[in-house]
Amino acid sequence: MQQVDASAAALDAEIRACQTCGLCTTRTNAVPGDGPINAAVMAVGEAPGQTEDATGHPFVGAAGNLLNSLLEGIGLSRSAIFITNIVKCRPPGNRDPLDGEVAACAPYLDQQIDLVKPEIILLLGRHALHRLIPDAPTISKAHGTVLTRGERTYIPLYHPAAALYNGSLLTTLREDMNTVHQVLRERGAAQGSGNSGNGNTLSRQLSLSWTAEEQP
Ligand code: SF4
Repeated sequence: MQQVDASAAALDAEIRACQTCGLCTTRTNAVPGDGPINAAVMAVGEAPGQTEDATGHPFVGAAGNLLNSLLEGIGLSRSAIFITNIVKCRPPGNRDPLDGEVAACAPYLDQQIDLVKPEIILLLGRHALHRLIPDAPTISKAHGTVLTRGERTYIPLYHPAAALYNGSLLTTLREDMNTVHQVLRERGAAQGSGNSGNGNTLSRQLSLSWTAEEQP
């Protein structure tokens, strides 16, 4: 575990100093991501916004507050999951990241996934969906579904920022969190008290973060 922590710290430092693409010239801070390195659940968004750029932490603005609320709504603590983005530096004016920027930053997310080894990845928005599952349907079709690739489970969701000012999307996002809740309950129940061998014990994560009445 110490080796993993050291690797995560080194990767974090490398991202904060990265100058691989042009976004390094306009960012205030690169935003590697936050969360326990043995998290069973990872959430992946698009790119840092203004508040994230200013603080160096992901999902700390209005969209972050909504994400926290959605997680709390299914009894899951934000502190129990690893949160990051496909692009680690803010695109100017919050524009969509360019294909070249996504490609340049891709190795960092890939390394984070290799380190964290999450069992479940929440894909927040179309950019995260198509970065990690290029053959997936559009987010309007894929949201709220459970996609399996290898041993990993992906759940695409609308991005909280898109739902902030769209009541219809927010309703859908809240409904889709029920799917996340259901998968977590099934995985927690299926794994009992066992350890998956890599530190990712979903049942342990749940027992740490779920309220008593929410535990399977
Ligand atoms: S967006 Fe990614 S590749 Fe581009 S400068 Fe930032 S960390 Fe480096």
